[in-house]
Amino acid sequence: MVTIAIYPGSFDPVTLGHLDIIERACKLFDRAIVAVLCNPQKTPLFTVEERIEQIKISTQHLKNVEVDSFNGLTVEYARSQNAKVLLRGLRVLSDFEKELQMAHMNKTLSNEIETVFLATSTEYGFLSSSVVKEIAKFGGSIEHLVPQHVALKLYQCYAQTPPGNT
Ligand code: ADP
Repeated sequence: MVTIAIYPGSFDPVTLGHLDIIERACKLFDRAIVAVLCNPQKTPLFTVEERIEQIKISTQHLKNVEVDSFNGLTVEYARSQNAKVLLRGLRVLSDFEKELQMAHMNKTLSNEIETVFLATSTEYGFLSSSVVKEIAKFGGSIEHLVPQHVALKLYQCYAQTPPGNT
């Protein structure tokens, strides 16, 4: 049986923390689908198309990754892809509370789909897309937090010059 895992999220933008989870998922599952959620309640910095492009470039070295987007319920999307696993990353206790609630809710919606949590690698425990955006806004160094092509896009968005280029 082929095991397909969906890794859903905003990825606004993708960080090295997300990529670490994706790389580890590739070793655990036959296929991993990184699914960008089109969430009308959030005002993202990057469009869904831009985020998909950023993730595709960042994962081109991985053979069993696909990148997609979806609307609506994650479990419905998982079902449409024949996926049995929803993958989420955990960093801090506050993630756990939110994620556990979501996992329980998803289980009530679709009993055959399992949520699997991967603990963040130690070096990315503090890393989130919003922290990266906050630093980029003020021209701080983000090269150790996101892929280089994403860092350049962020500096462009905030009309900042990458540090060291002044
Ligand atoms: P969402 O808006 O759905 O939380 P995110 O793009 O912020 O989307 O995150 C997607 C998933 O990746 C979530 O499960 C989140 O906990 C996880 N994640 C985000 N950053 C990291 C990180 N640095 N290490 C491990 N997991 C992470």
